[in-house]
Amino acid sequence: MKLVYIQSLSRSGSTFLQKVLAAQAGMVSLGEVERVLKNASLKREDPYDDARRAVGNKHTHDKSPCSCGALRNECSFWKPLLEEVSGRSMPDCYAGLMRHFEEQYPGQVLVDSSKLALGYKKNYVAPGLVSASDVRVILLIRDYRAWCHSMQKRKKIRYATGTYPPGYHSYLMDAYRWLWNNQRGVQQLKTSGIAHCIVSHERLVFDFESEMKRILTFLGRDPESLSLSSVPVMHELFGSHSLKIENAESYRIAPSYDPSWLSDNSGTCYGPILYPVARFNHYVHEKLTRAA
Ligand SMILES: [Zn+2]
Repeated sequence: MKLVYIQSLSRSGSTFLQKVLAAQAGMVSLGEVERVLKNASLKREDPYDDARRAVGNKHTHDKSPCSCGALRNECSFWKPLLEEVSGRSMPDCYAGLMRHFEEQYPGQVLVDSSKLALGYKKNYVAPGLVSASDVRVILLIRDYRAWCHSMQKRKKIRYATGTYPPGYHSYLMDAYRWLWNNQRGVQQLKTSGIAHCIVSHERLVFDFESEMKRILTFLGRDPESLSLSSVPVMHELFGSHSLKIENAESYRIAPSYDPSWLSDNSGTCYGPILYPVARFNHYVHEKLTRAA
């Protein structure tokens, strides 16, 4: 195994999952690789930073450091690579990435949490950088009520990108977007021939250790080897401030959950219109994400 690819909708808990994986021996997380390389390839600033500024949000990514603690333009992993691949085509960027990763972390497993559907195929398998048998995909799904609530909170920033028609981010549309994307994700993985595992964000948080053992088993590792006190090896340029490690000596990974959706009644207004969404949500949490 050379690559673990985390696929999910944004705001589904992928940051936390990649952090736990990056704390396991021999695994290094590089965060949202496709986003970093695309910006480098096009020699542009992240488009979301412009949107953030437009709504007066000061937490732009260009000012926050890499999760390794270094300033983003001084990170020991990304700085030399981004200098090398800036302005090159995406396949060149990925080829450069794999070379650079092997030099910096020989023999280790790359964790890519780009999240985008089929990203493992387009960027690694199709160009022959990683063979299909060396890829493991984790599809992470969050309860739709929690996800919609989180998306509604970010509506202003999303509209500020100027790419969406009015009404596109209503609660109802978000709920169906959750359904379509996750249903398609499950379907694509089932027919991909790639080893994959579907994980519920809620189960991961509330039944943390046994879910992690299930994931480690899927990755072909000893489930008893779960490490929660090793400092994660990760270079995530788009993470929140919570990714920064303040005290490496007493470090311990602990799951946390954002319960703010519990007091959100938006979905109730739509009643039976949301039934297909609720039904798939039930199927995900009861059938797809439980150990057999
Ligand atoms: Zn870094």
